[in-house]
Amino acid sequence: MSRAKFPYKIELHVHLDGAIRTETILETARRRNIKFEWETLEELKSHLVVAKPPYTFKALLEKFDTFMPVVAGDRDAIYKIAYDFCEDCKAHNTFYVEARYSPHLFANKMTNGAKPPYAETEGNITPKEVVNIICNAFEKGSKDFGIKVKTILCCVEYNPEWSMEVFELCKEFKSRGVVAIDIACGDLEPGVEHEELHTRAFKLAFEHDIHRTVHAGENGAAAGVKLALDEMHAERIGHGYRVVDDPELYERCRKQNVHFEVCPLSSVKTGSVSQDLDKHPLHKFIDDNVNFSINSDDPIVLDNDLTQDYEMVMEMGLDKDHVIATIFHAARSCFASPEEKEQILRDLVKVYGDKFMKM
Ligand SMILES: [Zn+2]
Repeated sequence: MSRAKFPYKIELHVHLDGAIRTETILETARRRNIKFEWETLEELKSHLVVAKPPYTFKALLEKFDTFMPVVAGDRDAIYKIAYDFCEDCKAHNTFYVEARYSPHLFANKMTNGAKPPYAETEGNITPKEVVNIICNAFEKGSKDFGIKVKTILCCVEYNPEWSMEVFELCKEFKSRGVVAIDIACGDLEPGVEHEELHTRAFKLAFEHDIHRTVHAGENGAAAGVKLALDEMHAERIGHGYRVVDDPELYERCRKQNVHFEVCPLSSVKTGSVSQDLDKHPLHKFIDDNVNFSINSDDPIVLDNDLTQDYEMVMEMGLDKDHVIATIFHAARSCFASPEEKEQILRDLVKVYGDKFMKM
């Protein structure tokens, strides 16, 4: 199939810790003298990449346990990961991107005195310092590569004790490009006790004009999407494929123009959707003109990039105009300021024409 060109892409759902260059992990392990069982790039790559079924969400998440201890708490590595990320975006014509990560997972000093989740030894890189380092790198990278990089800070489903601090960091770093709060590393399940702490953080975010997106309806039921909308003021849903199982909720999402951050390859490699791509909810989204974007999610473990995800949906039958329409959806649903959004839309019209403004 011919490779369609998309000279201006937008990405709204990509995890910075899921977009580390494999080389950086190997180099950092060597520099820090960390005993690491994989010595070559090929070995490490073949270990990290989710290659064959059965695909499960758990198997994908476990890959992070391999490499996060290498980079967590290392100032130079954290900066490099974020700066290189900007270069990689530029290489795929991604001119506007919102990168997300959990500041706690990169830290080597927890504010509450607990043991850091990944860093082997304690130091002075708090979650706040992580955000500072990454903001520095994004600011420099945006300038050097002529792109716009914003940040979404993630709460972690099974560490609700971090969520209030994530909200505080969103507030504190708002002027430095932190635009939203997210909850990651698991699907929301209504009725789980620890949700109270997450919902409190999200309510405060809403009150403080911090945008909200929530991972829901990916591996878990459609009810997670409902919870995200009702209790967490979610404006966008990470994945959300299972929303199609609940016709009433699906209709409501359409009416409210809720944006779904669809990650095509990821959806297959986490076992969230059928491997029969004809059954992918994306087809229904297209038929019903649902507001959604195309995203890469976690390139280091999926061995993908945004260009490949665009190609994948075209192989699934979307034509070039469908794909461009999703880029316009992304522009309208991104968390940039109204002025920045206007500018992005003007830039898109210059590249793709104005017929998509009406779609
Ligand atoms: Zn995600």
